[in-house]
Amino acid sequence: MSPVPSYFDKSTTLVDGHSTADVNSLKPHHDGFGTRAVHVGSEPNKETGAVVPPISLATTYKQDGVGNHKGFVYSRSGNPNRNALESVLASIEGGVHGLAFSSGTAATATVVNALGSDVHILSVNDVYGGTYRYIKRVAGECQGVTSSYVNLQDEDDKAILSAFRPNTKLVWIESPTNPTLRLVDIPRIVRLAKSHPSKPLVLVDNTFLTPFYSSPLLQGADIVYHSVTKYINGHSDVVMGAVVLPAHHAALAEKLRFLQNAIGAVPSPYDSWLAQRGLKTLHLRMRAHGVNALAVAKALQSSPYVEDVLYPGLPSHPQTALAYRSLSSHALKFVEKYRKDNSSPEDASFPYSGMISFRIKGGAEEANRFLTSTRLFTLAESLGGVESLAEVPAQMTHGSIPPAERELLGIGDNLIRLSVGVEETEDLVHDIEQALEAAVRPQPPREPSITTGPTAVGPWPGHPPLMSSPKLPVHQGGKSSIIRGWVLKAGFRRPTVPSLASFR
Ligand SMILES: *Cc1c(COP(=O)(O)O)cnc(C)c1O
Repeated sequence: MSPVPSYFDKSTTLVDGHSTADVNSLKPHHDGFGTRAVHVGSEPNKETGAVVPPISLATTYKQDGVGNHKGFVYSRSGNPNRNALESVLASIEGGVHGLAFSSGTAATATVVNALGSDVHILSVNDVYGGTYRYIKRVAGECQGVTSSYVNLQDEDDKAILSAFRPNTKLVWIESPTNPTLRLVDIPRIVRLAKSHPSKPLVLVDNTFLTPFYSSPLLQGADIVYHSVTKYINGHSDVVMGAVVLPAHHAALAEKLRFLQNAIGAVPSPYDSWLAQRGLKTLHLRMRAHGVNALAVAKALQSSPYVEDVLYPGLPSHPQTALAYRSLSSHALKFVEKYRKDNSSPEDASFPYSGMISFRIKGGAEEANRFLTSTRLFTLAESLGGVESLAEVPAQMTHGSIPPAERELLGIGDNLIRLSVGVEETEDLVHDIEQALEAAVRPQPPREPSITTGPTAVGPWPGHPPLMSSPKLPVHQGGKSSIIRGWVLKAGFRRPTVPSLASFR
């Protein structure tokens, strides 16, 4: 067995009301989320005193006699950096068994493999596309696994239960769903699963909320799943996945541990080290993501150029009450303090992670113009990094879904998804406002208009200058070029509309 780096003692997993029965009798302590994120698996090095764990790149480890080793044999089976990361992941999720994989998708593959053949998986209907593809195309076609996709948000108990089969072994929840940010009531689905004779495991993909905002294991889930690639690593430089299980699932964890090694989709020590470094600031980043996203969501909501904003922290979201009541205890503490300090009592909005979707007035053309008019939000897939990203799901992340199905899921051509980063709040709000203006304001006449003079920087006469932000250096007298009748100052991005094909 590999030694799990211990932080004080095994009771680090005793958190936030998690049952003490299945842990040990050591004195429990109650370090908060951020303290655990920083310290678990990161004790000062015994030999050198280094406060950061060294990166252990070795693939193999010396044995003093056959089978007599220090807990590490071969790096695929375990190495100090992966073990350290796994222990802190388990701790911040309120679980005991943490397992890291080379991607979220590799974690999906390993979990589904653990179920065996002849099984049925019941999944939330708008599950992450890669998860759908794995279950349907890989497990379905290569392993004989069957699957159904159910609206776990709106269907009543009876309808959901009727989708269970005698061989349903896994319920796959994602909450909020992507990109329409619908919430699944986790305790409700856990209750339904437990009431069914097939006793399926309940897995929650917690990628969007992270253990900072949501603790699915404490809500009764059997497995919590992450694409570590997103918020947990948080810096858009590692692809990785993980699962965490509670103490009472030791046998299942053992099976997954076997498969982790036997299938071999493991992360490198270096990536494990990077992800652990990223994770140490998860609590700080998630607060900032939430505060920024709320400000951007409010700006979108008050814009005349926006049809609809989807953010569970806004009172207009149909499930905002569920979002609030399912906040983890540490997030609730943060949210309540934030509201006390920042909002009036009648403002019921609150920070709730960093993902927003909204429908811009118009269609694909306006959406594309918005996405090429932002200065700080980068047009790109993925999410959860410190930098803000924007994308149009219908043509990018969800482009493989047939149009009719997309329509049913509410993923129209004017739906834009934002991953709000941790830049300064005002800069992000300003960027969104100017991009909306550039995207939806009546478009300029095709004829070239007056273009002389250093102040004529708007797209047409009377338009406010595009570089009006007091925060941005305006290059007075700098290089400018004339494009389609616009005078563009150096440094300002040309607001042309690329063809849809170029987004792929
Ligand atoms: C990205 C993502 C995955 C897949 O993770 P990879 O690390 O890209 O393999 C799974 N679920 C959600 C919600 C994701 O966003």
